[in-house]
Amino acid sequence: MSILGLTESKLNPTDAIYRRIVPAGEPWTGEIRRGQYFRIVDLHGNQAADTLFYNARNLQDRYSAQDTIRAQANIYLSTGTQLRSSEGNILLTIVADTCGRHDTLGGACATESNQVRYEIRKGYMHACRQSFVKAAIDSGLGMGKRDIASNINFFMNVPVTPEGKLTFEDGLSAPGKYVEMRAEMDVLAMISNCPQLNNPCNAYDPTPVEVLIWEAPPHV
Ligand SMILES: [Zn+2]
Repeated sequence: MSILGLTESKLNPTDAIYRRIVPAGEPWTGEIRRGQYFRIVDLHGNQAADTLFYNARNLQDRYSAQDTIRAQANIYLSTGTQLRSSEGNILLTIVADTCGRHDTLGGACATESNQVRYEIRKGYMHACRQSFVKAAIDSGLGMGKRDIASNINFFMNVPVTPEGKLTFEDGLSAPGKYVEMRAEMDVLAMISNCPQLNNPCNAYDPTPVEVLIWEAPPHV
């Protein structure tokens, strides 16, 4: 399969059945039913929306970065990417993308990685893994730390050099850019709207994102 690059959606935000602003640093959890469309909007630009996906009917079956990368033979996620699960299911397909690149290699920020990457005294600062653990516990679905597996960093630019080096670069995103997915099965989505204050890629300024859900439109 090929990665098609920048693609706009025909869906109108005023037709969405659900809209919610996720404040900077906060988690969001929601279910997207098979056939529904799910959009994340980078409202202010260069904000990382760290995201986990699960098969809503079997939470042990969850998004797998490894299976997704292997199936499309490409490390970057964009229009055309089928987000695959650990059990080989296609959870969602990216159907529109005005940013053009999303990372699934860098992982979610953690208090431990903050100490290693930035400074030992950054260890007390809030991180995505804590938001995920809180969201998992608050879900009431019996989820916890063990359910935090590989994630997607929507709007994050983490290119790999020809030498295989992983680099965190300034974002390609901008205010209003979005990524949109069609759910291929009932999916539970868990977002940590990244609270990171130490990485220049978000200008040290975490900002809100918006999530929207549409019913399957008859014309698409
Ligand atoms: Zn983070």
